[in-house]
Amino acid sequence: MPTREREILDLDVLFVGAGPASLAGACHLARLLKAHNATAPRPLELSIAVLEKGAEVGAHALSGAVVDPRALRELFPERLDEIPFEAPVGREHLWWLTERRALSLPEPPQLRNRGCHVASLGKLVKWMAKEAESLGVDLFCEFAGREILVEDGRVAGVRTGDRGVGKDGRPKPNFEPGVDVRAQVTLLGEGPRGTLARQLEARLGLTEGRNPQVYAIGLKEIWELPAGRFEAGEIWHSMGWPLWPEHYGGGFVYGMRDRQLIVGLVVGLDYENPWTDPHLEFQRFKTHPELRRLLAGGRMAYYGAKAIPEGGYWAMPRLGGDGFCLLGDSGGFLDSQRLKGIHLAMKSGMLAAESVFAAAVAGRPLAEAGRDYPARFEASWARAELWKSRNFHQGWERGGFDALVNAGLGALSGGRGWGVLDRLHAGPGHERMRRLDAERRDYRPAAPLPADDELVFDRLADVYQSGTTHEEDQPVHLQVADLSICVDQCVREFANPCTRFCPAAVYEIVPDSSQPAGRRLQINASNCVHCKTCDIADPYQIITWVPPEGGGGPNYGRL
Ligand code: SF4
Repeated sequence: MPTREREILDLDVLFVGAGPASLAGACHLARLLKAHNATAPRPLELSIAVLEKGAEVGAHALSGAVVDPRALRELFPERLDEIPFEAPVGREHLWWLTERRALSLPEPPQLRNRGCHVASLGKLVKWMAKEAESLGVDLFCEFAGREILVEDGRVAGVRTGDRGVGKDGRPKPNFEPGVDVRAQVTLLGEGPRGTLARQLEARLGLTEGRNPQVYAIGLKEIWELPAGRFEAGEIWHSMGWPLWPEHYGGGFVYGMRDRQLIVGLVVGLDYENPWTDPHLEFQRFKTHPELRRLLAGGRMAYYGAKAIPEGGYWAMPRLGGDGFCLLGDSGGFLDSQRLKGIHLAMKSGMLAAESVFAAAVAGRPLAEAGRDYPARFEASWARAELWKSRNFHQGWERGGFDALVNAGLGALSGGRGWGVLDRLHAGPGHERMRRLDAERRDYRPAAPLPADDELVFDRLADVYQSGTTHEEDQPVHLQVADLSICVDQCVREFANPCTRFCPAAVYEIVPDSSQPAGRRLQINASNCVHCKTCDIADPYQIITWVPPEGGGGPNYGRL
């Protein structure tokens, strides 16, 4: 690399990832400072910035989403009317699906959404970003945090990725080294399976003694439909077909404004059958007679996919330490029983902001906020909510029937379920995948479902609707540690599950007579929608997702 000098940016408070957690944290901190300075004899001035890898705020934001407004009510009590929700939740439906029938079920209390709002997370974070900027927070888009900076055991900031590096790893004429963004305290809200959070976890043992985090993948399309088909704010959740009883997950359908309808499916990434194909099952879900009727005559307009941390309270890593806090999905702030995480993510950012503010007011080093924040979380309503679902996901370790019993017992016992000692353990999701050449030879590929480009789409058609683009001439950001495993061992043992669990047709096994195995793994990195599924679900754990050049990736905006 050329020896161009690396820029250094010095800040007081750095948030990484412009999602709901970081933006709520940045807004809360800025407002606390403003209120303090209005009356304090000596004003406190802190430089606060948010780094975002997407081309703009919201470009990589994806969620269901039905939002519990509890955190927003605390954050913007005087501006609730201005928050760009789609609609308050109105009629709610819960279906048990078989292949042809939809049986209406009464909603359990955890799935009632009265008082919540259907939302586009992209629109919501854009609005929050404007609020943050108006409060003096700096937003830097197209900067991907690539490396955590640790000095004397304290997190000292992040190094962003270099720009202008070619496919071959050599600098191009536009080469620019990444920036060292140094801060007294760094708050990581990178989303699930964050690159920087993982580095910290490995370095500081943040997950020791916790359950391993387990994930699901959520796949979602937005449809534009003829008038009169549904009401804005009308929502459906479904269980059963096409996942039951093997897979954790279910369907969701949410009515937005302007005749737009969200359709999605969540599929646990802790499945046994290596032939599982979440994208295919999502497409199959739409062929149910009820969905077919709902979507008839419509047009699929947007697509996206994202991993979801489902492990709950026991799978949350140590949330803070010297100079850092983990926020939102990076800290496992998701209540899988309620299918909600946005309000918890926001609350995590706000709690971390309060820790930073308390340190600033007391004249202590801001790095100490990372030690205060976990205790603040433990005393918060976010912890109380997550405690109620602490053993929910673990029920799926032994399949759907056991999970239902566990969920029922959990509802009666304040979340204990059948965890006699109050904690159910669980293994990592990727270890549950069974080898085809070992115990269960009866696993078969899922029945095919040809694309018709009206209701059923293949991966490439969907990726097109995600607006994904990347600089083509850059190193592949999916790093496979040993490609020989893919073309030999993995073919026999798991039939290359990456070609199925990736929702964006990134991985292909193609013939190649120049290779000893006669085939090779082709990585179509520019299709990647940054869902992190491959990093999570690969049974050999040899795939590492690293941030590509800043600005690349999906352009969700409305999802
Ligand atoms: Fe998701 Fe990995 Fe596929 Fe990218 S390559 S879309 S991160 S599964």
